[in-house]
Amino acid sequence: MFASIKRFLSPLFLFSDTSDQIDFESDISIYLLLGVALVFAFLVHCGLLIFSLLIGFFPLRVFNGISLAVYCVCFFHLRKKRYAFIGVLLSIEVTLYTCFSVYWFGFLNYDFFYLVIIVVMQIVIPYAAAAIRVALGVLICLVVPLIIVLVSYYPGPGMVNPFDFSLTCFNIAVGFVGITVELVIGNVIQKIIEVSRQMRMETLQTHAYTDSLTGLYNRHYAEQYFSLLSKTANRGTNVAALLDIDDFKQINDTYGHAAGDKVLVDLAYLMLSEFRKTDTVIRWGGEEFLVILNSVTLALARSILDKLRQKIAAHTVETGGPRLNFRVTIGIAPLDTDHIEESIARCDENLYRGKRNGKDQVAG
Ligand code: GH3
Ligand code: MG
Ligand code: MG
Repeated sequence: MFASIKRFLSPLFLFSDTSDQIDFESDISIYLLLGVALVFAFLVHCGLLIFSLLIGFFPLRVFNGISLAVYCVCFFHLRKKRYAFIGVLLSIEVTLYTCFSVYWFGFLNYDFFYLVIIVVMQIVIPYAAAAIRVALGVLICLVVPLIIVLVSYYPGPGMVNPFDFSLTCFNIAVGFVGITVELVIGNVIQKIIEVSRQMRMETLQTHAYTDSLTGLYNRHYAEQYFSLLSKTANRGTNVAALLDIDDFKQINDTYGHAAGDKVLVDLAYLMLSEFRKTDTVIRWGGEEFLVILNSVTLALARSILDKLRQKIAAHTVETGGPRLNFRVTIGIAPLDTDHIEESIARCDENLYRGKRNGKDQVAG
């Protein structure tokens, strides 16, 4: 219970996590959220305008009309993404409106609640750098004693309206609803920022560790993987295999580079469908792939890879134009996790022995 209340109020602590250089992370989030705040304020003023029409109080009508015009200006600037301008204008409008209200209706209407909403807004909605919002928040807070002093020295008409108590309730309700809306907005901002951060992290990781053409792991991943593998205690028996497409240059020359790319994509798919989840397939170079088979003997690895080789030889690549076949040569060697580079070098030697011996075979 307390934890969820604390979580709900967490946007109030936004200043502590964000620096002056507020990175809005996702532009769309601040756009939507300021929009929600503006719609809320706009609706409140529509309500107040109706109220002013009901009580037939002219100055209130004028001020609400001006406020609505200000919000129209804000909506216009929202489309141009001038967030700081809108935030400041919104704060000024609410402050002036509050001063006006207090002057005409006296303190008992609790118009101060409007000020509380915009003070909270400075904390919850990061529409501008923190310094600007802190300064504005402090200024708004200073307005309260200032209008108390001014109104005590220069009391306004002290207009008593027939809806006095209703207006008080309305203002208090607006205050609470406003703060709740802001906290909801703040929560949404935090959520969006969190999700967008996570998505960017994932994209970064995926881009950093995978090859964009085949979706397989790349060499950068291999480095991390090997360093982890060499630190793993119970390593079991692993086998490494280097797989190289036969006469790939000729495929490119005959069918075009795009067809060559399709061969690489198909090969990646064939390998992934043949190996277990615990095996690792890495695009090692242009048309060369490294496979690490976990917990297998060399003989078993040889038979698994030979089955793959046959499957590849039987596979036809659809290029959108002519269909083509390709073959691969595979060099294998036991993987010594303390000497990974040497193990791969042995795979490489076996691979080239296979190439010299007529290709389309598993060597080692
Ligand atoms: P071998 O049978 O001895 O392996 O001969 P090969 O033609 O396969 O080997 P070679 O090293 O002569 O040529 C490899 C070719 O692979 C050259 C390069 O243009 C092509 N290649 C490398 N990366 C890519 C790629 O991402 N897409 C395409 N389409 N071709 C690539
Ligand atoms: Mg080749
Ligand atoms: Mg090669």
